[in-house]
Amino acid sequence: MLVIKVGGAQGINYDAVCADLAELLQQKQTAVLVHGGSEETNILSEKLGKPPRILTAASGYTSRYTDRETLEIFEMVYCGKINKMIVEKLQRLGVNAVGLSGIDGRLWEGTRKSSITIVEKGKRKIVRDDYTGRVEKVNTPLIRLLLDNGYVPVLTPPAISYEGEAINVDGDRAAAILAASLQAETLVILSNVPGLLRDVADETSLIPSIPLKEIEHFAEFALGRMKKKVLGAKEALQNGVQRVVFADARVEHPIRAALAGHGTVIE
Ligand code: ADP
Repeated sequence: MLVIKVGGAQGINYDAVCADLAELLQQKQTAVLVHGGSEETNILSEKLGKPPRILTAASGYTSRYTDRETLEIFEMVYCGKINKMIVEKLQRLGVNAVGLSGIDGRLWEGTRKSSITIVEKGKRKIVRDDYTGRVEKVNTPLIRLLLDNGYVPVLTPPAISYEGEAINVDGDRAAAILAASLQAETLVILSNVPGLLRDVADETSLIPSIPLKEIEHFAEFALGRMKKKVLGAKEALQNGVQRVVFADARVEHPIRAALAGHGTVIE
C-alpha cells in the first residue's frame, strides 16, 4: 500500500503524477492519492476580493486563517477545481478514481481548535473564528470499501470536527495519519522542491536521507510550511509507516523517481 500526497504549490506536474500513478496501478500496486491546493486557493481568494491571511502561531507553525468565507473558497478549490481535475485526468487514463473530501463519510475526523494564539507584528493575539484543526481519526473502512471494489480514492481536506463542522487541516499531516491507519509501507510527499533542502534557496543542497532517530536535528532546516511535512513524516513513521519520501512533483516521473529514492528518504 502506497499513500501519495501531492501538494498544491506552484509548478506541480499533475499530468505526470497521474500518469505515473496509472502505471503503478497497472503493476498491481494499491494506492491512495491525497492532494492540496494552496496556490490555487490564494489565486481564487484574491480574485474574490478576500486575500489570504497566513497566521503564525506562537509555536512558529503557520496556517491559513480560515473563517467561514475562506472555508467556502477553500472547498471550491480543493474539493472542486483540483479534486475534479485530478479525478478527470485519472479517469482519462483508465483509472476508476473517486474524489472525496474529509467531510464525506467522516473520512478525516478531528478536533477544531477553539482558539489559536498568534503572533502579529510582535504582539500575541487570540483568534477565535478560525475553522482549523487536526485529524485524529480516519474512516479506514470507507477507504477499504473503495479499494476492495477497484476504486482509487483521491482525497482532500477539509476534515470534519466531532461536532460536524468542516475544518481546514494540514494535508501532509492528514496524509500521514491516513498512511499509518492503512499501514502503508511508503508515504510519498510530492511538492515543488526536490526534497528537504539544507538551504531553501539552493536546490542542490538536498538532504538525501534521514534516519528517524535524527529527524529532530534535520527538522531545523525546514522553514514555513515544510515544517509540517517533517512533522507528518515523523508521525507516520512512529505509527508504523516504513518509509517517507519527500520528492519533486515537477519532474516527468515523480512517483517512480520518489520510489527509487530520489528525494529525501526518511526511515
Ligand atoms: P505543498 O503545497 O506542495 O504541500 P508547501 O508550499 O506546503 O508545498 O511546502 C513546500 C515549500 O516549503 C517549498 O516550496 C519551499 O519554499 C518551502 N521550504 C521551506 N523550507 C524548506 C526546506 N528546508 N527544504 C525544502 N523546502 C522548504
